[in-house]
Amino acid sequence: MSYFPHEFIHLYQDGAYSGGISQYHKKTGHPNIEFETFFLTDLFKSIYGYPGSISGAPSNSPLFYEYSEWIYGLSGMWPFTYSQFLSHHYNGYTYLDFLTNFKNYMPGCNYPIISTLQPAVIIEFLHYSNCW
Ligand SMILES: [Zn+2]
Repeated sequence: MSYFPHEFIHLYQDGAYSGGISQYHKKTGHPNIEFETFFLTDLFKSIYGYPGSISGAPSNSPLFYEYSEWIYGLSGMWPFTYSQFLSHHYNGYTYLDFLTNFKNYMPGCNYPIISTLQPAVIIEFLHYSNCW
């Protein structure tokens, strides 16, 4: 898996978030932006069969297994709505739990989470996902 999809998602995020994403760089909100990118990459890999392993939960993090199962569960539900995405869980763990796991264990991402910051690209992606 190259870095292109990751950086492309950041470019997309920069237009999707009001004020751009630089306001979150290495400060509060940083894990929100990074985790959304890892999540989308993992979801694309899982749905479309890209090579590479799940990356949004570090292998040494407590929710690594749960995150992988959560992603596979979501890909099996594809296409799904934003509300289905929010309510989807694995053993009770949801997006915010996996975001917290990511923040705590991904090197360079241990900045405060903004729990009210909606994942703008996920919302747009799911909104337009029925267009093909
Ligand atoms: Zn990044």
